[in-house]
Amino acid sequence: MNDDLKLLIRTIADYPKPGIQFRDITTLLLDGPGFGAAIDRMAAAVREPPALVAGIEARGFIFGAALAQRLGCGLVLLRKQNKLPGRVAGINYALEYGEDRIEMHSDAVAPGARVLLVDDLIATGGTALAGVELLRGAGAHVVGASFVIDLPGLGGAARLRASGVAVDTLVEFEGE
Ligand code: AMP
Repeated sequence: MNDDLKLLIRTIADYPKPGIQFRDITTLLLDGPGFGAAIDRMAAAVREPPALVAGIEARGFIFGAALAQRLGCGLVLLRKQNKLPGRVAGINYALEYGEDRIEMHSDAVAPGARVLLVDDLIATGGTALAGVELLRGAGAHVVGASFVIDLPGLGGAARLRASGVAVDTLVEFEGE
């Protein structure tokens, strides 16, 4: 399934540190029809258009922005620490490699708003779960989460589903 897209994703071994197989979506982005097909297929998986797409910095912005346009909805940015100029809410979380914090403008999401979370890849799910917590903390209804790539061996998609979020992904890579 989506083998055409999988072929457009490059793997770089030992980046950013030894033992990590980095799944590089920049090669998918370079391919116009491939990038377009990825957005078409992410959009096709959306049952009911949300009020907002939430894109996770940085690669989630690329797919999130394109998907929001395709769905005819707005985009809320979940950014790294100290990037947003207004009042923010934030969550610290553990990464596959390292630790991080994401923040969102406190007034960006109306209570009860239906929000679809988007990123390029789900690994352990730490980033996406932090996003869900942030959005739910603002009163949003997280109706789903969409990723280009799933690393099922790391269990993130399963963890996200266990927290009550419908997850859609286009391609899977076994191992890390
Ligand atoms: P996680 O929080 O473990 O689900 O990691 C997901 C985030 O880290 C996403 O924003 C990805 O872009 C990035 N990431 C984690 N592992 C990889 C990987 N093997 N290749 C590319 N990006 C990754």
